[in-house]
Amino acid sequence: MPETLIKVDLSQPAPSNPLVHNRWHPDIPMACWVNPGDDFVLETYDWTGGFIQNNDSADDVRDIDLTTVHYLSGPVGVRGAEPGDLLVVDLLDIGAKDDSLWGFNGFFSKNNGGGFLTDHFPAAQKSIWDFHGMFTSSRHVPGVKYAGLIHPGLIGCLPDPKMLETWNTREQALIDSDPATSGLANPPFAGTAHCGQAQGEVKAKIAAEGARTVPPREHGGNCDIKDLSRGSKIFFPVYVDGAGLSVGDLHFSQGDGEITFCGAIEMAGWVHMKVQLIKGGMAKYGIKNPIFKPSPITPTYNDYIIFEGISVDESGKQYYLDVNVAYKQACLNAIEYLKKFGYSGAQAYSILGTAPVQGHISGVVDVPNACATLWLPTQIFDFDINPSAAGPVKHLDGSIDMPISYDLKL
Ligand code: ZN
Repeated sequence: MPETLIKVDLSQPAPSNPLVHNRWHPDIPMACWVNPGDDFVLETYDWTGGFIQNNDSADDVRDIDLTTVHYLSGPVGVRGAEPGDLLVVDLLDIGAKDDSLWGFNGFFSKNNGGGFLTDHFPAAQKSIWDFHGMFTSSRHVPGVKYAGLIHPGLIGCLPDPKMLETWNTREQALIDSDPATSGLANPPFAGTAHCGQAQGEVKAKIAAEGARTVPPREHGGNCDIKDLSRGSKIFFPVYVDGAGLSVGDLHFSQGDGEITFCGAIEMAGWVHMKVQLIKGGMAKYGIKNPIFKPSPITPTYNDYIIFEGISVDESGKQYYLDVNVAYKQACLNAIEYLKKFGYSGAQAYSILGTAPVQGHISGVVDVPNACATLWLPTQIFDFDINPSAAGPVKHLDGSIDMPISYDLKL
């Protein structure tokens, strides 16, 4: 068996573990070192560091402090890696921890994080998903069961000082562009920074300057790509000596877009990976952002109902080629459809965020409307959801729904 280089104890708070961190900064000390060609295992917390519990209340989703995320395992130093190289990472296998065979999906309160459809689902809600080997089902969302497409939502290498400054400068400019709007981006925040093994002045510097882990950036990071699943091979740009590879935010399954934001089916687990180097690979292949090869193994759901959306919002307002608006409409159309079979809107939203749903940008040139499509696999349902002349049969009676927790400030 490959060696487990980073272990996490789910009974202990994540900030007490010196081999995890929740900011990006070149000075975060390497948690361990490996050689090119090595394969090894890293255990990870779920992205919240264990804050969300397996219970029937959404209070934890409502009350979470989002400055604490994401808890990442690493950084792993790779001997011989230098700026300009490509770090080749094979995701050999990914799994849940034996003592944690469940995951969570939810919607943050509109006051605290929100989500893609937060205007329609402003209160915190949560569903718990149990793992049965490679399959998952939820006591809060009846009538669906599907195979997992396990992947890390977040994986990437440490930035160099120049890249870190670029990130912080451009994101602060965005925040400053509209001070009245909160949540355009998240600036560094020292209060809850966890800087791995760093101590003293180095720790203070990382905490003050460290980039938050929420957005995907040039190094990869929080891309939340469902197809980056076990069996994939990823090519990461290297910016610092040793590369500094970190991983976390494991998802048992996710729909394209991770629209619910809290999040996919979030879980603690482990990643078995192998690393190699392509010296000078960034210039050789003209690479700025990571590239990857998909897994040879994916769930074979091949029958879909495909919902179209255009860039006209639900109030009838016309937008110009806005793919975000178009995808939102495709999602809302799918939710309305699923409600006809007895699902609550929340349950339908949760299915779109967690199941192997595909999202496609279908057209971006036919002014003024972009067209996006949402592909809902029919084979994940216990009953027939195809349209027919007989009309939809209500299979669910509404007796089971997702726990909801209202925020008094809403
Ligand atoms: Zn996630």
